[in-house]
Amino acid sequence: MLIVDAHLDLAMNAIEWNRDLTRPIEEIRAHEAGLTDKPDRGRGTVSFPEMRSGGIGLCVATQIARYVAPGSQLPGWHSPEQAWAMTQAQRAWYRAMEERGELVQIRDRAGLDRQVSSFQSPVSSSRSNRESRTANPNRFPIGYILSLEGADSILTPAHLERAYADGLRAIGPAHYGPGRYAQGTNASGDLGTVGRELLREMDRLGMILDVTHLCDESLGDALDHFSGPIWASHSNCRALVPHNRQFSDDQIRELIQRDAVIGAAFDAWMLAPGWVRGETTPQSAGVTLDTVVDHIDHICQIAGNARHCGIGSDLDGAFGREQCPADVHTIADLARLPSVLAKRGYQESDLNQIAHGNFLRFLRGAWASYT
Ligand SMILES: [Zn+2]
Repeated sequence: MLIVDAHLDLAMNAIEWNRDLTRPIEEIRAHEAGLTDKPDRGRGTVSFPEMRSGGIGLCVATQIARYVAPGSQLPGWHSPEQAWAMTQAQRAWYRAMEERGELVQIRDRAGLDRQVSSFQSPVSSSRSNRESRTANPNRFPIGYILSLEGADSILTPAHLERAYADGLRAIGPAHYGPGRYAQGTNASGDLGTVGRELLREMDRLGMILDVTHLCDESLGDALDHFSGPIWASHSNCRALVPHNRQFSDDQIRELIQRDAVIGAAFDAWMLAPGWVRGETTPQSAGVTLDTVVDHIDHICQIAGNARHCGIGSDLDGAFGREQCPADVHTIADLARLPSVLAKRGYQESDLNQIAHGNFLRFLRGAWASYT
């Protein structure tokens, strides 16, 4: 079954973690033996071969670079220009992966439809790289939609236009902490003038607003000032895990009213309450794919249907096996989520919607006038 994963930080892993995602996962892990500079060294779960074996034919992949004032506790760059330059390095890596036939950028409805149909019938596809795919049907290019997690790197409206021309289609204005355009997780405050201007420009360009990571005030402000398509690429439920990173039931209701799709995040601290980083383990907390389904089910119960849930695993978001569901060995295990949903009573049509259908419907609607 086609799986859409609405949130991966592929380029961050390639450039800041120095991971060659074209290689087998065992090899990537082995290269990191003895390294301690990142929390998930030797325990990564994402590589292109694993994505292919899990049927992840389409993902939303980020550019990510935060600006921080010197002295901030958060990691980041000391000028917005440095942050912009990092996003351009990430863009260059995505391009290089396209040139290798590993990835294909999806930037409009025609490209989306091509990717979905080539996934469903890879050998008969008329895409230009048909020969190599026919020779090795497991080596299909994975579709990716470019998204920006945290907008600090957008220097001016002209840079936003340039990014759009490069294929950027979604923006989450903030990440962790205070941002230049909006306030993120663990911060507070509304968008302010520049944040609202950013949303106006995004509206004009037809971009998607990713409300993941917005603090409560910035989220409310964004819903008031943005009229275009809204998704939450990787967010869970505050009713199950109390923390400002998650959505309250009222926020979930507002998002459903805006016809948003919410991708379930697989970061274990967002799945089970009371997680202590570095101490709690997925096994000790009993976090499994079933726990992910608890969050999906909570949203479906609020909605009264399965039209607003998807997957936004974030499985390469600075954590690995030490902090993801115990039964997820690599990202290929996303393919087992539909059967876990089925055990909880979800029908075939619901499984398809959650695995890919909701995000595809969302994108086709968002890009209806941009074919
Ligand atoms: Zn995130």
